[in-house]
Amino acid sequence: MRLTRLFALTGAVLALLVCGMLGRLLWGEWLHYRAAGTGHQTLQLMQRAMVAAEKLSFERGPVNAVLGDRVPPDPAYRERLRRARADTDLALARLRDELAADSGPTIPATALAPLHAALAAARRTVDQLAALPPPERTPERLDAAVERMFALVPLALDAVTGYTRASEQIYPSIARILMKARLAVELREYAGRLGSALTVPLAAARPLAESDHARLQFLRGRIEQLRQLIKLPGSDIDGEPRVLAAVARMDQAYFGAGLQLVADVEQASRAGRPYGMNTGQFAQRYVPNMAPILALRDVLLDEAQAQARRDFETARRELMLALMVGAAILLALTLLLLIVRRRVVIPLLRATRAVVRLGNGDFSPPPTGARRDDEIGDMLRALATLRANSMDRQRLEQERVRLIEELRLRADTDYLTGILNRRAFTAAGNLRLRGAREHNESLAVILFDVDHFKSVNDSYGHDAGDQVLIRIAEVVRDSLRDGEIVARYGGEEFVVMPAACGLEAARALAERLREAIAREPLTLNDGHILRVTASFGVAVAHGPHAALDDLFHAADLALYRAKHNGRNRVESQV
Ligand code: GH3
Ligand code: MG
Ligand code: MG
Repeated sequence: MRLTRLFALTGAVLALLVCGMLGRLLWGEWLHYRAAGTGHQTLQLMQRAMVAAEKLSFERGPVNAVLGDRVPPDPAYRERLRRARADTDLALARLRDELAADSGPTIPATALAPLHAALAAARRTVDQLAALPPPERTPERLDAAVERMFALVPLALDAVTGYTRASEQIYPSIARILMKARLAVELREYAGRLGSALTVPLAAARPLAESDHARLQFLRGRIEQLRQLIKLPGSDIDGEPRVLAAVARMDQAYFGAGLQLVADVEQASRAGRPYGMNTGQFAQRYVPNMAPILALRDVLLDEAQAQARRDFETARRELMLALMVGAAILLALTLLLLIVRRRVVIPLLRATRAVVRLGNGDFSPPPTGARRDDEIGDMLRALATLRANSMDRQRLEQERVRLIEELRLRADTDYLTGILNRRAFTAAGNLRLRGAREHNESLAVILFDVDHFKSVNDSYGHDAGDQVLIRIAEVVRDSLRDGEIVARYGGEEFVVMPAACGLEAARALAERLREAIAREPLTLNDGHILRVTASFGVAVAHGPHAALDDLFHAADLALYRAKHNGRNRVESQV
């Protein structure tokens, strides 16, 4: 796998892993945050429901007063009932609004419909009964009306039961506080019932029946039970001064003065004394003593709310923190990958390409960065050294090749004239002779020697002699065709080997060369024009036993004869 692809893959896998981990973390925090928000809302809803239940309980006080009223009716009682009803309606409207605003799926806003219907029916019953003359308000009818009012409170509380459970699930830590708050609501309800139990006897100004006593006894027992449950230690806030003070106020007001009032009525009934108060007056004295129960409930709910708020804030902070840490991790990872790519991967790739180029003999400059103070810098420096060494080696190699070529050339070439020397000619001649023997051809040799060359040296100097030799070599070379070779045989003696040919052809060539030399005016450096001649000896070898030495020897003899016979002429072997 290519390094770039591996790096990209590594980056992607790393990013995926980190994103997955962060996503998991953030999702957890987000759920916690949302649960805290929902729980907070739920608590508000519960508070509204409890307030509505409380208002429904309150409404029973004025109802009892109105139902126990005599003729003509006391407008103050009617006014209290109207205000109580308005309070209840307001609390129910708030509960309805809260339910409508709540996004929780637990309860639809229509959950309050049965309560509204029951409330309207109960109020109608009360109004109809209140409109009757007092003698017609029989105990049975009064009981029925009061019972209808009692039935309303559980309906209000039931409307939010689902929320209560949800909130307890989300906040197990405050479940106990909520439970106590509910116990306080229940306590207030039973306290209300205890008061209501006296409504009919007080309204009728008759002594309590045994069933009334039994009912009072039962309610008192239940009330005491609830009191003990509320006081039972179990939640974090039991020791809170606010809670302790609220419990003390409840003990003093309701369990002190409130229950004492009920006990007084009971005692008067047993003693056969008049009660000294009607239902309304009883309610006026009894109801305020129940207020601390609800105050305790509010303190408990307040605490639950405060804890929920704290939880919500903590969840929000943790979510924010997780978000920031996540963003920081992603940023750091991206930066790190970018740095590694810039500082390691890209230089490494460039260095690799440079090494490959070097290997292919391309010495273009290596990538920059050799001044870096790290391993990549070391590598780039080593690369630069490698390149310099390779260039040196290549230069040396070229020099060696050139020298060898020069040596080879020198070994084969005559230093003065630039044509082949005797050694190279002998090698080439032997090769040709072998070829001629194989193909059964004739091989000719033409040997020629400059005439009276000594006198050229003597008359014009050695340099002039050299120029003459150079020029003669040029003239002969220009006169030859492909396959005909010329060499300097030594001193002012030259040798020509034509392509495979017989004696006559060789003689003709020799004649042509002789004429060319004799015809050529040789201009010296100092302007003198010389004409020289040469004498030629031609010999031909043929057959399987032909030898180069014999051929030269025969040509030499012919040359000797040419000199002897007057020079500037061609002689051939006889
Ligand atoms: P002949 O006609 O009988 O050949 O007379 P020649 O003077 O040419 O012959 P000889 O052998 O007496 O003289 C050859 C001369 O060639 C002697 C030598 O100094 C001269 N010579 C040989 N090699 C060179 C050379 O490379 N350069 C020069 N300038 N002279 C050379
Ligand atoms: Mg000679
Ligand atoms: Mg000579």
